[in-house]
Amino acid sequence: MTANKCIQKLLRFKGLKVVDFVFEGSRRLIILVKPHKNGCLCPVCGRRCEIVWTLPEVRWWRDIPAAGWEVWLQYCPREIRCPTHGRRQEEIPWARSHARATYRYEYLMLRYCQMMPQNGAGTLLHTPSSTLSDLLHRCITATRDGHKIRGLKRIGIDEISYAKGHKYATLVYDLDRSCVVWVGPGKGRAAIDVFFNEVLSDYQKGQIQIGCCDMSQAYMGAITEHCPNATLVLDRFHVVKALNAAVDDVRKEQWRLTTGADRKALKGLRWLLYRHSSTRSRKDTETLRALDKANRRIYRAWQLKDEFEQFWEYKAPWAAERFIRQWMTSVLRSRLEPMRKFVNTLREHYDGVLAFVGCRLTNAIAEGLNRIVKIVKNRASGFRNLDAFTDMIFLTVGDVDIPAQIPARFRTL
Ligand SMILES: [Zn+2]
Repeated sequence: MTANKCIQKLLRFKGLKVVDFVFEGSRRLIILVKPHKNGCLCPVCGRRCEIVWTLPEVRWWRDIPAAGWEVWLQYCPREIRCPTHGRRQEEIPWARSHARATYRYEYLMLRYCQMMPQNGAGTLLHTPSSTLSDLLHRCITATRDGHKIRGLKRIGIDEISYAKGHKYATLVYDLDRSCVVWVGPGKGRAAIDVFFNEVLSDYQKGQIQIGCCDMSQAYMGAITEHCPNATLVLDRFHVVKALNAAVDDVRKEQWRLTTGADRKALKGLRWLLYRHSSTRSRKDTETLRALDKANRRIYRAWQLKDEFEQFWEYKAPWAAERFIRQWMTSVLRSRLEPMRKFVNTLREHYDGVLAFVGCRLTNAIAEGLNRIVKIVKNRASGFRNLDAFTDMIFLTVGDVDIPAQIPARFRTL
C-alpha cells in the first residue's frame, strides 16, 4: 500500500483521493486532495462537464483532528461549463460550497456544541473559540436558510434575558413539538409584532388555536390582535411565579415586624415556601406546619398557595371555576394584603387563567416549555451577542434537527 492510500484509509476519507501530504511542525497535517475520479461534476445536476480553467486560489478546509494532529485539506477547485447550468465551480464532495470546513467537521462541531459549552468543543476540535463560533454561525445560518415554519397550532411567547445588564430576546415556541421556532431581539410588543408581521402569513395566523403567554399586556395584546382564532391562555409558570412572589411578600412583611427569637423561626423559609408539594420532603412539611404556631400569617399564606396547586389538576372548566371562586373568597378573607393583590391580578386575567383548564394544555407541555427555557438560559451564560445566543437555541431546541442536515455518510462521531 502506498503512503497516500494509507493516509486515505487511516483517516477514512470518502469521495476524495489523497495526492500528497506534508507534516508541518508538530501540530499540522496538510493533505493535498482531489475529488474522486477527477471530479468536474456540476454541483446542481451532477453531470460530468468540461473544465474551463483551474481557479488560481488554493482553498483550505478544516477537517476533524486525528491523533492530536490538526488536519487540513488543500485543493484548487476548477471552473466547469455545464450545458444546462452554465459556468460554475465544480462540486466539492467533502464540503458545502463556500464552507471552510468539511462536512464531517461540521457534523462533529454541531454535535459537540449540543452537548457541551463552545470552548469545550473548541478544545476537542483543536479550534480557537472565536473561529469555532464563527464556523458554527455560518453552518447554522446556511442550514436554516430558507426554512419555513410549518403547522403552527399552539404557540407560547416568552422573553428571556441573555446577557448581564438587561438584554432581552423574545422567543416563540411551538407547544405541540416543544421547540423554539423564532428568536427576535428585544422584548415587548414591538419585538413580537416583527414575528407576526414578517414571519407568518395571514393563513398561518388564522391556523393558530392557542396562544400562551405571561401576564404582560404586550404579548396578550399581540395574540388577540394577530391571531383571530386563537384562545389566549396564561402560562401556568407565570401565574405560579406571581403567587410565589405574593407569598414571599407576606414573609418579608412579617420578617420586618418580628424581632429576636420570633425572627429566628422565620430563617431559611424563603425557598421552602416556593416549593411545590410534590418536591417537598417530610421534614420540609414539618417545618412549614410548625409555622402554624410561630407565625400565623405566613402559615396562612403558604396554606393558600398550597391549596391553589389543586387548580391545575382540574379537567372540567366548571369545576375549576367553582374552585377558583372559593379560593379567591378565602384569600380575601385572610386579610393578607400581597395575596389580595394577587387575587386582583387573577381577576383581571380571569379568562386567560381559566382557559388553561379548557384547552387541555397538559402539564407535560408546560413543563417541557420550562425545560427549554432552562436549557437555553444555562447555555446563554457568557454569550456576547444575540447571534451566538440564537445559534445555540436553534441548535439545542430549534425546530430543525441541524446535524441531520449533513449528508448521512459524513455523520461519524
Ligand atoms: Zn448542471
